[in-house]
Amino acid sequence: MNMTNGKMTSADLIAMEEKHGAHNYHPLEVVLKRGEGVYVWDVEGKQYFDFLSAYSAVNQGHCHPKIIAAMVDQAKRLTLTSRAFYNDSLGPYEQFMTEYFGFDKVLPMNTGAEAVETAIKLCRKWAYEKNNIAEDQAKIIVCENNFHGRTTTIVSFSNDAVARKNFGPFTGGFIRIPYNDLAALEEALKQDNIAGFLVEPIQGEAGVFVPDEDYLMKAKALCAENGTLFIADEVQTGIARTGSLLSVCGDCSCTNTCQKDPKTYVQPDILILGKALSGGAYPVSAVLADNAIMEVIKPGQHGSTFGGNPVAAKVAVAALEIVTDERLAENSRRLGQLFRKEMNRIIKGTDLVNSVRGKGLLNAILINDTEESDTAWNICCALKENGLLAKPTHGNIIRFAPPLVMTEEELMECVAIIEKTISEFKK
Ligand SMILES: *Cc1c(COP(=O)(O)O)cnc(C)c1O
Repeated sequence: MNMTNGKMTSADLIAMEEKHGAHNYHPLEVVLKRGEGVYVWDVEGKQYFDFLSAYSAVNQGHCHPKIIAAMVDQAKRLTLTSRAFYNDSLGPYEQFMTEYFGFDKVLPMNTGAEAVETAIKLCRKWAYEKNNIAEDQAKIIVCENNFHGRTTTIVSFSNDAVARKNFGPFTGGFIRIPYNDLAALEEALKQDNIAGFLVEPIQGEAGVFVPDEDYLMKAKALCAENGTLFIADEVQTGIARTGSLLSVCGDCSCTNTCQKDPKTYVQPDILILGKALSGGAYPVSAVLADNAIMEVIKPGQHGSTFGGNPVAAKVAVAALEIVTDERLAENSRRLGQLFRKEMNRIIKGTDLVNSVRGKGLLNAILINDTEESDTAWNICCALKENGLLAKPTHGNIIRFAPPLVMTEEELMECVAIIEKTISEFKK
């Protein structure tokens, strides 16, 4: 190992992970050491545009000074009390969150998967106690190709063979229907004991699949008619990523803070947030609902040692203030339109890419090859050489999701890198 002058190379550090870490990821071969805004640097000092943003957790850009200041300041004072005691950050955070998103109450957790688990438990409990569903019979409708995290219950209702294989036995009580299919939802809702419909407003991991414009609005209406809870998992799509504060806002006319434009806004009964709620700094997730639902949870029935800790509370407030102050939703919407326009221009001149799709700055290009091919992976390796980091999702799809603090000029630099990489690429 090259440890002369105490410095390890990328190759050394990759070998270390290979030897000592579990192999549950297959990272691109770049070892990052520093990040600022839309940029990251590897241990050799090479600079890259981050076009993944930690799966949309870093919407506010790397090491945003306001988030880091809030985190460091709180970390010096008080980091963890557990919920056995009150702390002086949680109440103000809860008030801020509920006002910001327009719900009566918030239940704080840490990771996205935990928040999804919380929403499932909340939905079931509400169904038994407020909706007369027979004990242990509640069913939740989910969608094909969903991604809601990696716990045992969540992979129980996934149809990703890799995520499921040899992890059974699985949790029951879920019905899977095709995504973006209102007839299938209507049919499923006719079954007995349906408690909720859990849906991603845009399927991110599935390859940035944007449903029809009226899908969410009509799905919510069907759920409401049936007395079924509409549960939106906005862990990836929320916090300005798709060009509005939340993806359930739709193509609203709001330019900054969410006005819940009644023409486009689809009110979830339960809203799940994570990822960018943390500004990429510290795990924070949350479940929001109104009193009629949230009040079914009583002391001792659900919890988390770290959920609602003072550092998380301060980090999340700073992360959301940045979304408002720096008008990230508006920027995401505007740059997203520009990005897709530019990609469509590039696609016309190549047979390597079939199409681009997405909303705001959550986009993907579809590579003209099979899911089993390594073309998308190799394009990402070439993009890396040219100074831009992205990762394939599902073999032949490359997701493009830069931090939302990107400027138009920076975006056009990225477009030029992508154009150059594609034009030079040889299969
Ligand atoms: C990432 C993600 C999750 C899981 O979040 P973790 O913090 O990785 O547990 C859940 N739902 C969606 C839609 C996601 O994109």
